[in-house]
Amino acid sequence: MDLKEKIRVIPDFPEKGIRFKDITTLLKDGETFRYTIDQFVKEVEDKDFDLVIGPESRGFIVGTPLAYALKKGFVPVRKPNKLPGETLRYEYKLEYGSDVLEIHKDAIKPGQKVIIADDLLATGGTIYSTIKLIEELGGVVVGIVFLIELTYLEGRKRLEGYDVRSLVKY
Ligand code: IMP
Repeated sequence: MDLKEKIRVIPDFPEKGIRFKDITTLLKDGETFRYTIDQFVKEVEDKDFDLVIGPESRGFIVGTPLAYALKKGFVPVRKPNKLPGETLRYEYKLEYGSDVLEIHKDAIKPGQKVIIADDLLATGGTIYSTIKLIEELGGVVVGIVFLIELTYLEGRKRLEGYDVRSLVKY
C-alpha cells in the first residue's frame, strides 16, 4: 500500500514556505489507518519494551493504537499545564516556533524500556526533548517510530545513537 498517496500536502501552512504533510486524509481511510498501525507494529514487535510514549497531539493518534496492539502501556508527553500531576518540563525549538513539553514525574520507572511514536520527524526537536524527559526519569529509549520523515531537515542526525524508523520519507 502506498501511504504517500493518502497523505495530503498543503503548501504554505502554517507559514509561507512550509509544505505541511496532512495525515488526516490517511487517518480517515480505515484500511490505510489500520495498515499504518500494522506497519508500526512490525517495526517494533521484536523489541523488548514496556511502554509506548507519544508527544501531543499526533503522537497520541499513532502511539495509542500501537500500545493497544502490543498490550503495552501508553504515556502521553503533553504541552505545558495539561497534565494534572507533578511534571518534568523541557523547552525546545520547532521547525516553526518553540514550545515546552511535559511528562508526569511518576510516568516511567527507572530502567523501563520505551518506544516513542509520532507522526512526523522534522528537525527532531520534539523527539529530542521527549528523549530528554524520558531519560531524566531513568527510562531507556529502545526505538523511535515515525509515520513520516522529512529527510531534508536531517532530524535523524539529532537522534544519532537511537534506533529510528519511519514508514514514509520525503
Ligand atoms: P520537529 O520537532 O522539528 O521534528 O517537528 C516535529 C513535529 O512538528 C511533529 O510532531 C509534527 O506534528 C509537527 N510538524 C512539523 N512539520 C509538519 C508537517 O509538515 N506536517 C505535520 N506536522 C508537522
